Amino acid sequence: MYDYLIVGAGLFGAVFAHEAHRRQKTCLVVEKRSHIAGNIYCKNVEGIHVHQYGAHIFHTSDKIIWDYINQFAEFNNYINSPIAVYKDELYNLPFNMNTFSKMWGIRTPSEAREKIAEQIASLNITNPSNLEEQALSLVGTDVYEKLIKGYTEKQWGRPCKDLPSFIIKRLPLRFTYDNNYFNARYQGIPIGGYTPIVEKMLSHADVRLNTDYFAHRAELSSLAHKTIFTGMLDEYFDFCYGALQYRTVRFEEELLECDNYQGNAVVNYTDIEVPYTRIIEHKHFEFGTQPVTVISREYSSEWQPGIEPYYPINDQRNSSLFAKYQELSKREENVIFGGRLGNYRYYDMDQVIAAALETAETEFH
Ligand code: FAD
Ligand code: UDP
Repeated sequence: MYDYLIVGAGLFGAVFAHEAHRRQKTCLVVEKRSHIAGNIYCKNVEGIHVHQYGAHIFHTSDKIIWDYINQFAEFNNYINSPIAVYKDELYNLPFNMNTFSKMWGIRTPSEAREKIAEQIASLNITNPSNLEEQALSLVGTDVYEKLIKGYTEKQWGRPCKDLPSFIIKRLPLRFTYDNNYFNARYQGIPIGGYTPIVEKMLSHADVRLNTDYFAHRAELSSLAHKTIFTGMLDEYFDFCYGALQYRTVRFEEELLECDNYQGNAVVNYTDIEVPYTRIIEHKHFEFGTQPVTVISREYSSEWQPGIEPYYPINDQRNSSLFAKYQELSKREENVIFGGRLGNYRYYDMDQVIAAALETAETEFH
């Protein structure tokens, strides 16, 4: 008998397994994919660490989380500064003085503020209640139309009016010439990629790959006193209230015989006509000097059974459905639900670590 059965070898499951081992508890981890690390998995292609499930930049303002992750890897000094392409125009992200200067030919913060105020004066948005209103009230109509509307509607497959405003508040808005995509105090990419971090976290657990919990549910549950479940919450309950919605992403990867394809790790395509949302050039996360390069185009679409779910859609409809599943989950004895899918939350890695540490703290207090 194990103390814990952990469903999912992603970051949440791995942090929990590590914490359990520190308390002399035993864990069996089951993972349906053929590898560990969940969505932070990196593979080595010609010496380049390719983020197979999308670009992952670690960032946090919490020193405890930063120190925690640094036990498992050394981080480089990468700072994310994506470029946005709108038709034939290029802009810096996040929205800052470089963006505004390029957009309006202005120079000073007060000119930028004035321009935004002028653009939103007639809109009378006092209390933004959705992504569109939030974005317009922060950056005005030009930036919204060119850099937000098309990208967001491609990414989420819904009009900006139907999306929660918190999604756009993930991005900083600055009236300084600073292209750092995050306001976090600590930021970087682990040297050697993310997979070795998870490998270290799981080094004392028994791990079974290619094992879907739902295919062996009764047998697996009988092997441990308690279950930590990091898969889809609605699937755990056999979709009894209907399916929660997710967005999925198709990553179209290409190995190119050139040393530098786009000059930046992340380039976003913000107009609706381009079918992908962004192109990632992986080597730039680690200042790679290889003679070749690997790029991934990201195509976003609605999740369907049989493909990977990536983004929970925290709109009203799904939030009320999630609340119903959450009620059920509270009644489930000896099962703890965690992670992006188990909690149906748009967690970043630092938040997943914090949530897993809190779960461990409660469990082992
Ligand atoms: P996951 O990594 O999804 O792990 C869950 C695991 O459970 C998976 O391996 C899955 O295969 C397995 N599983 C599911 N169901 C079953 C089952 N029935 N049986 C067995 N195994 C099962 N965060 C950042 O901080 N910075 C970023 O730059 C960033 N970029 C991102 C880009 C993209 C495209 C995406 C999708 C996410 C990004 N994130 C980023 C978020 C980050 O990926 C997550 O916070 C983190 O990886 C979630 O960890 P997790 O363990 O909750 O989930
Ligand atoms: N966003 C945008 N234009 C961009 C980049 C982002 O409108 O060029 C919006 C979009 O709605 C996106 C949100 O900001 O979903 C959050 O962006 P982030 O880069 O945090 O998304 P993630 O990396 O999680 O996909």
